[in-house]
Amino acid sequence: MSLFVPKIYVKDIYSIDYKKLINDGYKLIIFDLDNTIGNIKEKICDKKTTNFLNNLNKDIKIIVASNSRKKRVEEFCQKIECDKYHFSLKPTSKILLKIKSKYNIDYDKIVIVGDQLLTDMFLGNRKGLLTILVDQKDVKDLKITQFNRKIENIIKKKYKLKKGEYYR
Ligand SMILES: [Mg+2]
Repeated sequence: MSLFVPKIYVKDIYSIDYKKLINDGYKLIIFDLDNTIGNIKEKICDKKTTNFLNNLNKDIKIIVASNSRKKRVEEFCQKIECDKYHFSLKPTSKILLKIKSKYNIDYDKIVIVGDQLLTDMFLGNRKGLLTILVDQKDVKDLKITQFNRKIENIIKKKYKLKKGEYYR
């Protein structure tokens, strides 16, 4: 299977079976920011998502890793009580090396949740993480992402990844 194709594909972060992830021994979940936990027009994470993530963080360690700049990540995540990483350079391994040195968790115990095949899924699959794709929260993308989406759509077509046809 292609390194761009997620192991699990669900509608959104609320559709993930976190109990199963914990039972299966996963120790850390990396959440992408833009179009995964928030949309690009939102300056600050909404209450529902903030509460959800803060509660989840009591059961399993979570972090937010975004390719966006520092101001965006800090402002958006200000009420989310977890470590946040800006300018993560996904799909390079930069963020994973940071996690490895900080938490010393093996890659096969880490989950990555994101909306992009070319960054989130490719990084996770290449390094042996559990990859979970979610639908992008909003149709609006950052400029830099718009080009990636074109390639993504070709891959999605080839591997029959269709919105609404989720799998676990
Ligand atoms: Mg994203």
